[in-house]
Amino acid sequence: MAILTKGPRGTQDILPGETGKWQHVERVTRETAELFGFREIRFPTFEHTELFNRSVGDTTDVVQKEMYTFRDKGDRSITLRPEGTAGVMRSAIEHGLLTEALPVKLSYLISCFRYEKPQAGRLREFHQFGCEMLGADSPAADAEVIAMVNEIFKRLELKEISLEINSIGCPVCRAKYHEALRAHFGAHREELCDTCKDRLEKNPMRLLDCKSPICREIAKGAPTVLDFLCEDCSSHFEELKRRLTAMGVAYTVNPTIVRGLDYYTKTVFEFVSGNIGAQGTVCGGGRYDGLIEQLGGPKMTGIGFAMGLERLLLVMEHSGSPFPEPVPCKIYLGSMGDEAAVCAASLVSGLRAEGFRAECDLMGRSVKAQMKYADKLRAQYSAVIGDNELASGVIKVKNMLTGDTAQVKLSLDDSDDDSLMSYLYHTGFAELTEAVEGMEL
Ligand code: ATP
Ligand code: MG
Repeated sequence: MAILTKGPRGTQDILPGETGKWQHVERVTRETAELFGFREIRFPTFEHTELFNRSVGDTTDVVQKEMYTFRDKGDRSITLRPEGTAGVMRSAIEHGLLTEALPVKLSYLISCFRYEKPQAGRLREFHQFGCEMLGADSPAADAEVIAMVNEIFKRLELKEISLEINSIGCPVCRAKYHEALRAHFGAHREELCDTCKDRLEKNPMRLLDCKSPICREIAKGAPTVLDFLCEDCSSHFEELKRRLTAMGVAYTVNPTIVRGLDYYTKTVFEFVSGNIGAQGTVCGGGRYDGLIEQLGGPKMTGIGFAMGLERLLLVMEHSGSPFPEPVPCKIYLGSMGDEAAVCAASLVSGLRAEGFRAECDLMGRSVKAQMKYADKLRAQYSAVIGDNELASGVIKVKNMLTGDTAQVKLSLDDSDDDSLMSYLYHTGFAELTEAVEGMEL
């Protein structure tokens, strides 16, 4: 029954050995977004299918081929979110967030679902960190959003990544560009893939994003969007470049970037790595000035991005970015005999209350086996509590790395065993904690 013991194609388990890396990336992205004034928003994993058709766009690969869409028991068409922007906009409109002081800055960390051919950096369930800035039209907003991604990558010590920017204009200048594209691709109509034949009329810019080798080849000679920008879009783009340069954010202009979703206008950008195979785009974003209105909200512009966390981690691993070490086990408190075991357990809970990772025996193992386990845990220190220790309050703490030992004297009330336990409970922790903390064995 492999179906029970093997996860569905395109899904990935993130095991305990890896979760520390994820938590690091999540922490840094969240902290940086907070510094830039973005507030986290959480929204449902699934939405009405229509929301994605409307926003992501009917002619995109995502909507045409990749969505997990099903009918629920109430016969509604439901789709697992393939991206975050649509859900964030729906939620912001529904709850009136757009009436707050502008710009509204929102961030999210979510899982997304796309029915794609699984390969390195391409999964069916994957994770995105994304931000949306709503209500700011000026290129200063675009620059700030891009600078934030740059800051995140800097903090993660990510190397081998570069920023590419482009402008795909507004509906006004795009109409002329569409005509030029239709003329160019129309001349090769018969060679295009079936999807692109269909797109030629509806949305010719999509042809620039097609992954089929023949369409890609034809796209090479296509006219460039930058030659068609209107005055407004052109000066927006120039100001963006000026701002990025002023902020020390390195970029190159790549006029072939059109992005895979329909809602983009003016600025589009990608952070790309050449070292993780064909799926090199770690972060993609852009301006979407018509989207909110298109979804039934007020006339309000927006700009945002989403980064794929699986791809981000691939680049970090490839380029040797550092990850924090997991919290080590500070001390393993072994025990010999029943009463000592109870004592060790209560000492351990006191140490934990003080913020130390501490462990004791839960398996009824021999002292030798306990120490072997302490080794496996890579505990930094260990001690064994037996009858002598219970009686004297003197505990010998050993540095597991060097083998050096030091005596820790807990000031026990030795009048009787009961009071020993209670004394340990009330004062032992502090003394032991202090001793362990100050120990330089
Ligand atoms: P691609 O061209 O690689 O298919 P896309 O344009 O479809 O990417 P976006 O919709 O812009 O991607 O999503 C933003 C980011 O999310 C991507 O840059 C990528 O890092 C990540 N991403 C998208 N699809 C997947 C996937 N199937 N598996 C893993 N990460 C993904
Ligand atoms: Mg895609």
